[in-house]
Amino acid sequence: MDFESLFDIPIDDLHTPCYLTDARLLQKNTALLKQIQQRTGCKILLAQKAFSMFSAYPLIRDDLAGTTASGLFEAKLGREHFGKEVHVFSPAYTQEDFTQLLELCDHIVFNSFGQWKKYRQQVQDATRNISCGIRINPGYAEVETDLYNPCISGSRMGVPLEQMEDDFAGLDGIHFHTMCEQNSDVLERTLDHMLPQFDKWLKRCKWVNFGGGHHITRPDYDVERLVRCIERVRDTYGVQVYLEPGEAVALNAGYLVATVLDVVHNGMDIAILDASAACHMPDVLEMPYRPHILYSGTAGEKAYTYRLAGNTCLAGDVIGDYSFDHQLQAGEKLVFCDMAIYSMVKNNTFNGVPLPDIALYQNGHIDLVKRFGYADFEGRLS
Ligand SMILES: *Cc1c(COP(=O)(O)O)cnc(C)c1O
Repeated sequence: MDFESLFDIPIDDLHTPCYLTDARLLQKNTALLKQIQQRTGCKILLAQKAFSMFSAYPLIRDDLAGTTASGLFEAKLGREHFGKEVHVFSPAYTQEDFTQLLELCDHIVFNSFGQWKKYRQQVQDATRNISCGIRINPGYAEVETDLYNPCISGSRMGVPLEQMEDDFAGLDGIHFHTMCEQNSDVLERTLDHMLPQFDKWLKRCKWVNFGGGHHITRPDYDVERLVRCIERVRDTYGVQVYLEPGEAVALNAGYLVATVLDVVHNGMDIAILDASAACHMPDVLEMPYRPHILYSGTAGEKAYTYRLAGNTCLAGDVIGDYSFDHQLQAGEKLVFCDMAIYSMVKNNTFNGVPLPDIALYQNGHIDLVKRFGYADFEGRLS
């Protein structure tokens, strides 16, 4: 990715830290997703788990079929701010949440036959017409990080083949989600493994949901192979195919802009930023991964190397070691790439660190969507 060439936003006066989403890049992603839907008849939903910047939903609403949620709050957000279809999957529903989901959702996916049986009658009695499905665990995934592998032994995600029940009455669909940031070759091999095994149930389905983890908008993604996968399932079983990518919707469409607050030395140069790995980009520590920073290199690659660290009291609040062509100065801004997905939804106010602003670059100017303050920190505690 040539991030530098994509970046032309005037950030000199930007208040930081700030998540800055570029509407053009977001819509470039969803235009591709729209094309795939038009070509194949599949429906693509936004998985809000990855991207819940609802102020940007109007920009992508026309290109997508709706949203999917991991529970009540995301379902409510999808219904209120996106509209169109609202789907939900949760490992387990509480009665309290389920009653409200019945008012919000078009599809409800259950993680076990036990949950389906518990709630089946309530779905049938609901005023809303709700289509239900079961999440299966195909027992096949090529995810190397255990944290993101739903098919790992002992996984709670989905019904394994040996626990599939014959009584499928009332169920319309099968949902599987076994991928993470992967290309369509993985999807193809997953289908090769899964379709023969679950054939009996697939034949009774009206829809099949391929879940998320499809990195469709990445430059090297093989869209043609995805199209063939969708057509294969669509034509073999006569079903409506759904995809619910999160990352792919806003991949590389946003930044986290931070300011250097100080440079200290302890065996090396260390730049302290107003952004924190622990608070504002937790996946850097959790996943872990190294975000790209505009105009930077790896340690030693350019003339001046710095350890970039956050302004919390956590010793390990370190983003990584990066090099630059010039010496970093207090007051200078750094632009972290690909921060619209997951970072924004996973941030926190640990240590009382302020949450970054949320801004949208659109029609040649930056709109400040939201600034957070002390009330946001205080409000989630008591
Ligand atoms: C996480 C998740 C998604 C979205 O995954 P991405 O990797 O962001 O594409 C979709 N569906 C389900 C059930 C998920 O858990």
